[in-house]
Amino acid sequence: MKAVVYNGPHDVSVSEVPDARIEHPNDIIVRITSTNICGSDLHMYEGRTSFEQGRSLGHENLGEVVEVGSGVSKVKVGEYVVLPFNIACGFCKQCERGLTNYCLTMQPEPAMAGAAYGFAEMGPYAGGQAEYLRVPFGDFNALRLGEDAAERQNDYVMLADIFPTGYHATEMAGVKPGDQTVVFGAGPVGLMAAYSAVLKGAGRVWVADHQPDRLALAEHVGAIAIDTSKEDPAEVIKEATLGLGADNGCECVGYQAHDPQGQEDASLTLNQLIDSVRFTGSLGVVGVFLPEDPGGKKAQNELEAQGKIPLDYGLMWFKGQRMGTGQAPVKRYNRALRDLIAGGEAEPSFLVSHDLPLDEAPDAYEKFDTRQAGWTKVVLHPET
Ligand code: NAD
Ligand code: ZN
Repeated sequence: MKAVVYNGPHDVSVSEVPDARIEHPNDIIVRITSTNICGSDLHMYEGRTSFEQGRSLGHENLGEVVEVGSGVSKVKVGEYVVLPFNIACGFCKQCERGLTNYCLTMQPEPAMAGAAYGFAEMGPYAGGQAEYLRVPFGDFNALRLGEDAAERQNDYVMLADIFPTGYHATEMAGVKPGDQTVVFGAGPVGLMAAYSAVLKGAGRVWVADHQPDRLALAEHVGAIAIDTSKEDPAEVIKEATLGLGADNGCECVGYQAHDPQGQEDASLTLNQLIDSVRFTGSLGVVGVFLPEDPGGKKAQNELEAQGKIPLDYGLMWFKGQRMGTGQAPVKRYNRALRDLIAGGEAEPSFLVSHDLPLDEAPDAYEKFDTRQAGWTKVVLHPET
């Protein structure tokens, strides 16, 4: 079967890989019909991780079940399902607490964080930017979709990662109706965080980025755009809040944060977030920061290579802020968000800029990685 394969930094191809097959009675096989390119794929694509050459990518997957193992009792052949990017068992100490993002069963290295499809350091699992995907513990890891699934794939596929991840950022930030919330990053994750804050009834929501096309989408969901190439976000927010700062905020950029001139500064947005949020406010950080990775090639400096960045912790402590971090536990939110989509209350497909066949993945990676104007979110459709 065909899959998007990592060949080395900035080099992916659509190549033949071994067919996905049932390896355990609890597995299901899904024929992938929609699979997104995510900002997280770029960590591997840019050669910043120890992701092995020859592995397939893709953790935001939706498709039709074509085969179920003998131990699968709920999910049926022919159903459309969306797969949370976290692969989890459902019965370990972490899963029982709802922390499927840190499942202890699926990760062969106990010191590592959770498991995912096609991801560095998150287990050996194949990616879903492919014709077919093996899903372990299919009854647990597949979210079944309704009859409108085939027609509304670009909405439902966002349930695999970025919609629950953006929502998780707002949960960790404690966003409530009427709150004033700042979101750093207008990439797909930041847009989903802003969208979630608006859905929750937040009062004013600001989104900071320097890409005009993405800021326009932030305005589309009802947020106030802050163009960081023209304005200092912390100053804008303090001025709008009588010097107090926002009630809470989300970081959706990660260690690849850069200034408008393109100079990378891994702690830029984290420190701006601390500065922008009021005393005792909460911060939800879903942007990725990586620990030391001996195989990781592209750190900006020695500190970053060690997984350390300069954080304004003194200011954060002084302000009495709380910070939530880490991968999103997708299953915690995806049923409720699915039902919002099904009911027409949420349409996260507004951020899809490109529907492309799988074969166009190499070009799409290049365009998305270099953040070409208008390339907000790519959905690959293997069957076309
Ligand atoms: P993306 O790269 O498309 O978006 C990042 C955005 O940040 C871009 O629009 C970029 O212009 C902007 N940006 C860069 N520097 C900035 C700055 N100084 N100030 C404001 N904006 C700035 O990626 P994405 O798909 O939206 O993902 C964002 C982050 O979320 C990545 O780190 C990704 O790995 C992470 N992520 C985390 C989870 C999770 O479970 N925690 C899940 C998915 C993605
Ligand atoms: Zn993702």
